[in-house]
Amino acid sequence: MWSFSIGCRALEVSARVERDVTMKTRLARFPFVKTLDQFDFSFQPARNSAQIRELATARFVAHGENILLLGPPGVGKTHLAVSLGVAAIMGGISVVFFTVADLVDLVQQDVKEDRLERRLHALCKPTLLILDEMAYVPLDQRSAQLRFRLISRSYQKGSIILTSNKSYGEWGDVVSDYVLATAMLDRLLHYSTTINIRGESYRLREKRKAGVFHDLGAKPVKSSPSSSPKTQGEGQSEINSQYDGL
Ligand code: ADP
Ligand code: MG
Repeated sequence: MWSFSIGCRALEVSARVERDVTMKTRLARFPFVKTLDQFDFSFQPARNSAQIRELATARFVAHGENILLLGPPGVGKTHLAVSLGVAAIMGGISVVFFTVADLVDLVQQDVKEDRLERRLHALCKPTLLILDEMAYVPLDQRSAQLRFRLISRSYQKGSIILTSNKSYGEWGDVVSDYVLATAMLDRLLHYSTTINIRGESYRLREKRKAGVFHDLGAKPVKSSPSSSPKTQGEGQSEINSQYDGL
């Protein structure tokens, strides 16, 4: 009888935890749900693997640290950001995910409807804020300021994961205000881990494997049996060099 009631209690708790995870995952507004188990670390430089697995413990949130995932398109920045978000939710942490483009659209709408403050308040509630694709959209002054305030507030009470295909030096261009860009970087980098992913695009690798894509600018590959297969990462050195010295 005793063990039966303990068993029931355990079931109740696990059902509650599951409901909590489902609810938090829905509220997080991820573009897709992928976990770290689905990330092929053998495809990316091995040195990232242990570091990322440590981040998946979500200790960085408890310490109020931020994560910056930088690298060229297709290398898995969004996948990793989502996976870390999912791992944080498993640890009971509330998360919200936005692409910077979506955030800009929202801000523009909010300004029209005079509810920017409410939005800011709502965005600052989750403990972990994921801002994806920080450089794809040039930000106007107002959106940049909102983001700065978001970063400042989260900095005091939560953590941010930010992904970007731009190096720090290029952030002034997208924020359209050099002073603001510097202040934002200052806040973000104070307690942070930066992960530079320098591998080949996973998407293009899949396409290349299927034979539908060749490196831009590369000579057409002859299908003669003597032509040697491309080694992984070849043709990427030029793209990756943009990320040197970040
Ligand atoms: P990025 O945000 O850097 O442009 P994404 O995270 O959108 O790249 O990755 C593009 C696609 O490739 C996604 O479907 C993602 O799940 C997949 N992908 C990228 N890198 C890996 C990897 N190392 N292992 C498994 N899937 C990957
Ligand atoms: Mg992405």
